[in-house]
Amino acid sequence: MEITALSPQSLWKHFAAICRIPHPSGHEAGIREYIKGFAHHNGIEYCEDAVGNAMLIRPATSGREFYPRVIMQSHIDMVPQKNSGTAFDFLTDAIQPYIDGNWVKAACTTLGADNGIGIAAALAMMEDKQLIHGPLKAIFTVEEETGLTGALNLSPEFLQGDILLNLDSEEEGMAFIGCAGGSRTEYVFNCDREPSPINHVAIRVALTGLRGGHSGMEINLGRGNAIIILARILQDAVKSFDLRLAAINGGSLDNAIPREAFADIILPPDQEMELAVMLEKLAMREIETLGENDPGMKLTLLKDVDFCSIMEKETQTDLLKVLVNCPNGVIKMSESIPNLVETSTNLGVIKTTSDLIRLTCLQRSSCDSEREQLVTRMNDFFSQAGADVERKNSYPGWQPNTDSPVLGLLQNVYRDLFEGALQVRAIHAGLECGIFRNINPKLDMISFGPEIRSPHSPDEQVLIASVERFYQLLCALLRRID
Ligand SMILES: [Zn+2]
Repeated sequence: MEITALSPQSLWKHFAAICRIPHPSGHEAGIREYIKGFAHHNGIEYCEDAVGNAMLIRPATSGREFYPRVIMQSHIDMVPQKNSGTAFDFLTDAIQPYIDGNWVKAACTTLGADNGIGIAAALAMMEDKQLIHGPLKAIFTVEEETGLTGALNLSPEFLQGDILLNLDSEEEGMAFIGCAGGSRTEYVFNCDREPSPINHVAIRVALTGLRGGHSGMEINLGRGNAIIILARILQDAVKSFDLRLAAINGGSLDNAIPREAFADIILPPDQEMELAVMLEKLAMREIETLGENDPGMKLTLLKDVDFCSIMEKETQTDLLKVLVNCPNGVIKMSESIPNLVETSTNLGVIKTTSDLIRLTCLQRSSCDSEREQLVTRMNDFFSQAGADVERKNSYPGWQPNTDSPVLGLLQNVYRDLFEGALQVRAIHAGLECGIFRNINPKLDMISFGPEIRSPHSPDEQVLIASVERFYQLLCALLRRID
C-alpha cells in the first residue's frame, strides 16, 4: 500500500509530495515553491519574508470574521541523517517513505515527519472545504533544526493573531505549554606555559564511557560531566604527586553533556606506578557516586603521547579549581510544573590551544530573568577567576501558562473526541514558540502533534493512527475556537 492511500488522504498526499522534494535545513526553496504552487492552485493568499519563511492566509468561514485569529505553525526543514554506507544525497534525492505495520518509516534515512506531518496537516486544513473556522493563517519557518534561524528572523507581521498552534511536537496525547530559553557563554583563560622538564613521563588520562545526552532534556538524570569529573580526579591527584598539566580537552557541543575528556600530563617516572593506582581509586569513587545513572565510566592511561610545554603551576591550579567549582547541572526545578527543570547550565566543551583554554557553557531557563541572573553569576565566577567572558548568542524561553485559554479548550476537545485526558508538559529545551512569544507577547500558544519516534535519526517513524487523530483534533479545535 502507498502512503497516499492512508487517511486522511489530503494530508498524506501532501506528505508524500514533501518527501519527494529535498529539504534539509538551509535548502527549503523547493518546499516553499510547493506551498506557493498550492496557494496559487487554491486561490489562497501567499507571502514570504526576507529569510524565506512563508505564510498562507485563509479568510474566516462566513459569520466568524471576528473570531480569534489562529496561526498554525510548522517548520519546513528536516534533519538529514542516513545510515552509514547508504548512498543518498539529501540535496537531490527523494525520501522513500514506506508502511511498516502501524508505522510509516523511510528507507535508510530520516523520514522528515518532523515536521513534514505538521506542514501537510496545515496544507490539508487550508484546502478542507468542510472546515469551519475563524481567520486562519499557516506559517512555515526555515532552519529550525540548525539554530531556530527562521523564527529568530521572522517578520513580525506573520505573528499578528491571537492563538498560535505549533504543530511540531512528537508525543500523541501530550500538549506542550512551555520551553526553555538559552544563552551560550564562552570563558577564555590565558594558558601561560613553560617548557616540559626532561626525564619526565608523558601520559594522556582518558575519561570515557559516560552516557552524555541532551544538555536540556537530560540534564536532571544524574549523568556525569566528563570534564568536571576529570578535573576533580586531577585536583585530588596533584595533592600527592608532582603532576603537571599540558592540556585538557573534552566534550564536542555546548548542548550535549560531555561524555569524554582527556588530560595530557607529565610526572617524574618514579611516581608513575603509584599515580596509576591512585587514579584508579579516584575513578572508582566517581563511578560509585554516579551509580546506575551513568554506569559505564572508564579511566585509562595512554602512554604514546608527546608535548613540549606544560601549563605554569598557577594556571594549572586555577584551572582545576574553576572546573571543579563552576556552577553546573540543574540550578532550579519548576514550582508550577512537577519534574520540570526550570533553570540549568551545562559545561559542554573545554579546548586547550598553545596559548588559550576555552570553555563553552549553555544556560537554559523557561524564565528569561532567571537565565539572565544565572549568566551574570557565571560571568562573575569566571571573570573573578581571570577569564575573559564572551557572550555568544541567546534566545528567549516560553514560560508555561497553565491558565492558557487555548490549553483549556484543547483539553476539552481532546476529552470529547478520545475520552482520555490530554497530558500537559513543558520542556527544558528550545522551541520556536519561545521566540514567537518574544515577538508577540499576547499570543496564546500551544504545541501538539502526532506520535513520532526517533526523530533526527534514520529510525524516525510516525504512528499512522496518531496522524489521523492529530488531524481530527486540529479540525475540532479550529471549529471550537470562538
Ligand atoms: Zn521539529
